[in-house]
Amino acid sequence: MKRRDFLKILAIGALGWGITPEVRAQNIEMLKKSPSENLDDHIKDYLNKMQYFNKSHEDDVRIDSVTYKVFASTVMRFKRLQQIVGHGNFQILSFDDGLKIARRYSKIGKFSKTEIKFMEMIFYEEAQHYGFLGQKPMNKLTDRIKIKEVIKVPHTGNYLYKGLPLETFEKIKQRVGEQVVLTSGIRGIMKQFMLFLNKANQTNGNLSITSRSIAPPGYSFHGNGDFDVGQAGFGAANFTERFTNTEVYKKLNELGYLKLRYPKKNLLGVRFEPWHIKVRTEI
Ligand SMILES: [Zn+2]
Repeated sequence: MKRRDFLKILAIGALGWGITPEVRAQNIEMLKKSPSENLDDHIKDYLNKMQYFNKSHEDDVRIDSVTYKVFASTVMRFKRLQQIVGHGNFQILSFDDGLKIARRYSKIGKFSKTEIKFMEMIFYEEAQHYGFLGQKPMNKLTDRIKIKEVIKVPHTGNYLYKGLPLETFEKIKQRVGEQVVLTSGIRGIMKQFMLFLNKANQTNGNLSITSRSIAPPGYSFHGNGDFDVGQAGFGAANFTERFTNTEVYKKLNELGYLKLRYPKKNLLGVRFEPWHIKVRTEI
């Protein structure tokens, strides 16, 4: 079995195991129970990639040399756009509004036709191709976050949806105490795009390394309810496995809040994310 076929099988839940995305997110152990040619090798390869998620692997998908220039100019334009719009507003900025603002401000400069085409290509690419096997909750590049449905959480620079996500965060704060902080809330298409492209830039265009850490635009559940938490004062380490040593993590675990979207040894092609709170448990 070729790696691509293997990934396809995981993605469509074939082989008669009835693998739903939920089950797939749970554990790789069940896969091992199913005898199949070369499966062991594929699992080993998969686990190796997940363990060294930030390293490049031979069959990783990379941005080709022809596309690299437009990729680099898009990254720079995103940076200028975020600077003008401001970090807070940028979290929920839509694609159309981003384009409009870029056109209006000469400091940003309008997105060129090739840049827009590149963004469309990235957005509508099957992320499975990179090795990312999660669902895609935002299907259209032009999907918007409705302002009426969200609230800016004071002192965090982040937004949360009213209703269950906000209630969940409030309850967490009540039960865990002031030491818990909201490190990332709602992320619209543009924010997710920027995170994805920035990471791709740091990895010299390696989209597989990128997608092992950051969901491609459209594929992030930060678009519809999930959020990240951390320990106050722990900074960037909140987004590493070291977060599991913190008081906040221990308390969240005790209180049963860690029904993770990306648990250890998940089958979604995403590193372990103990800080990511899954709010919408039905998806
Ligand atoms: Zn997250």
